[in-house]
Amino acid sequence: MENKIGAHVSIAGGVKNALDREEEVGGNCGQVFVHSPRVWKFGELTEEEAEEFRKDYKSRGWGPIVVHSNYLINLATPKPDLFKRSVDTLREELKRAGRLGLEYVVFHPGSHTGSGVEKGIKSIVQGLNMVEEAIPEGTKLLLENTAGKGTTLGKSAEQLSEMIEKSDLGFDKVGVCFDTCHGFSAGYNIHEKEGLEQTIKEFDELIGWEHVEAVHLNDSKHPQGSEKDEHAHIGEGEIGEEGMKNIVNHPRFKEKPLILETPVDKDKGYKENIEKVKELQSS
Ligand code: MN
Ligand code: MN
Ligand code: ZN
Repeated sequence: MENKIGAHVSIAGGVKNALDREEEVGGNCGQVFVHSPRVWKFGELTEEEAEEFRKDYKSRGWGPIVVHSNYLINLATPKPDLFKRSVDTLREELKRAGRLGLEYVVFHPGSHTGSGVEKGIKSIVQGLNMVEEAIPEGTKLLLENTAGKGTTLGKSAEQLSEMIEKSDLGFDKVGVCFDTCHGFSAGYNIHEKEGLEQTIKEFDELIGWEHVEAVHLNDSKHPQGSEKDEHAHIGEGEIGEEGMKNIVNHPRFKEKPLILETPVDKDKGYKENIEKVKELQSS
């Protein structure tokens, strides 16, 4: 089977442009926002546009293209207004994903901002239950593991599995996206062979590795356990070339869609990073 590899691409000028951009960087899967990630507002999406996209997407035989949720969404918040807005926005994103024929919506579980871990998780569970009916047939909601900074929840397999298990959602509607930078920053020593095996084992036992449906493949600018979330070019961060080589050649990672969220600099963007991964997989 051909490896699935791609990157987070822009939808500037309309979602129809995303697939061409993916092609330009050499991707056959990837990720998009369905509206600006830092505002609540949605632009219009006509049925013609949605249909055109679905046809184009289908004809290329690619996928998955994952929708990344808005950054303002926080299901763990103790503030009722923000919680409601988050639920409404996530519902709308799920509906959009369905209209575009996209298989996943990835979101960050949220930050409790002082209310405590237990209350935060309870709030996330409530939020998951409230969006359930908006999950279209053929689309799943994925919880992304986080770097764990401050009051951020979802830094461990244990927390993610608690959120999922306590919710009413089954694995036909929900799953996990594993971000390598976040996992490493949260303390998982995936840069070492043994640590990588141990991490997979932990996710497998607590969640089921088959429910990790996508990987965000990023190197990290900060050390293991730093809890800092800053992505680096593949092989140039603290996970490093050897660490990345182990990850991208591990059969349990290779089987997942690898989606890059690496920096886009003047002289180095997704194209170069995707090439780097392919090089590490063939060397
Ligand atoms: Mn993310
Ligand atoms: Mn990510
Ligand atoms: Zn990140």
